[in-house]
Amino acid sequence: MPVDDRVRACIERIGDLVVRSAPLGTRTTYRVGGPAALLAEVVDEQSLERVASAVHDSGIEVLMLGNGSNLLVADRGFSGLAIHLGGTFGDLVIDDESGAITAGAAVACPVLARRSVAGGVGGLEWAVGIPGTVGGAVTMNAGGHGAEMEANLVSARVVDLARATDAWRARRDLDCSYRHTNVHSGEIVVEARLQGLPGANSTESTEMLEEIVSWRRTHQPGGRNCGSVFTNPAGDSAGRIIDAAGLKGLRYASAVVSTKHANFIQVDSGGNAGDVRALIEIVRATVARSFGIELVTELRMVGFDR
Ligand SMILES: Cc1cc2nc3c(=O)[nH]c(=O)nc-3n(C[C@H](O)[C@H](O)[C@H](O)COP(=O)(O)OP(=O)(O)OC[C@H]3O[C@@H](n4cnc5c(N)ncnc54)[C@H](O)[C@@H]3O)c2cc1C
Repeated sequence: MPVDDRVRACIERIGDLVVRSAPLGTRTTYRVGGPAALLAEVVDEQSLERVASAVHDSGIEVLMLGNGSNLLVADRGFSGLAIHLGGTFGDLVIDDESGAITAGAAVACPVLARRSVAGGVGGLEWAVGIPGTVGGAVTMNAGGHGAEMEANLVSARVVDLARATDAWRARRDLDCSYRHTNVHSGEIVVEARLQGLPGANSTESTEMLEEIVSWRRTHQPGGRNCGSVFTNPAGDSAGRIIDAAGLKGLRYASAVVSTKHANFIQVDSGGNAGDVRALIEIVRATVARSFGIELVTELRMVGFDR
């Protein structure tokens, strides 16, 4: 079915749940990029079921949107349906006795970290520095400060839109590795069961939260960016390599390689996604030419031709 027909078929089914030509790029931390043809705000199980069935029947392409902290949306936008979770998917239940946590996919990672500590559960302090959602962090196997989501993850509830299935997938079946799981673009992580450490020392955990926040302020740039653009090659750091290639501060129109951390690319206010994309390719090509290293993007690009 042509793209426009899929969009129309979707509107016929869930017109009351979608916004047409909805700003998408502005919902990312880059704050550049165009609209989504359709955007659905999914706030409860009933609307999730309706959206899943409309996607299944129309075959429309889907983009799961968390906090947009790892997304670069093309200036022309995305021609499918963006799905954003909220409402009951923001529920967070922490059992201070066992350290078991059930977190909806819409829970913000810093909230997960701080609420766990406040509830006497440790082990998730690392998440305070991740400006994404639990859904995004599970999908990306996000991590930092020596920890990764994988270490806390027990299982994730995954809705597969093409197969119309809804099942809990255990950690061992998620194929977790560095910034990778097998959750693919036609699947939705709806909630996650996590394991923290009960009886954590509240003073130590609180200090750890503040140390992480302060470390990030010192070592990472603010402004419009998506964190690390490239994954670290085994045993090395993408930031070190880009710096060694002399690319810190390199500018392409509205995009610039951060002078504070070379694996961050920032974009000016009023800039555009095309400039960020072009600079990513310049960095990639220069590093390949200089050191023979093929950098792999960590950020996800949406709506570009390739
Ligand atoms: C300043 C800054 C610092 C950062 N530091 C780190 C860091 O230290 N470590 C790290 O790992 N990352 C870091 N990031 C990147 C980013 O925060 C993480 O990748 C985060 O997990 C993305 O979550 P999100 O909700 O923003 O996902 P999005 O950016 O919205 O989406 C990312 C990917 O996950 C998919 N996705 C999102 N939600 C779901 C869902 N519910 N179900 C299925 N798929 C979904 C999207 O389709 C997309 O492919 C940083 C980003 C910024 C801006």
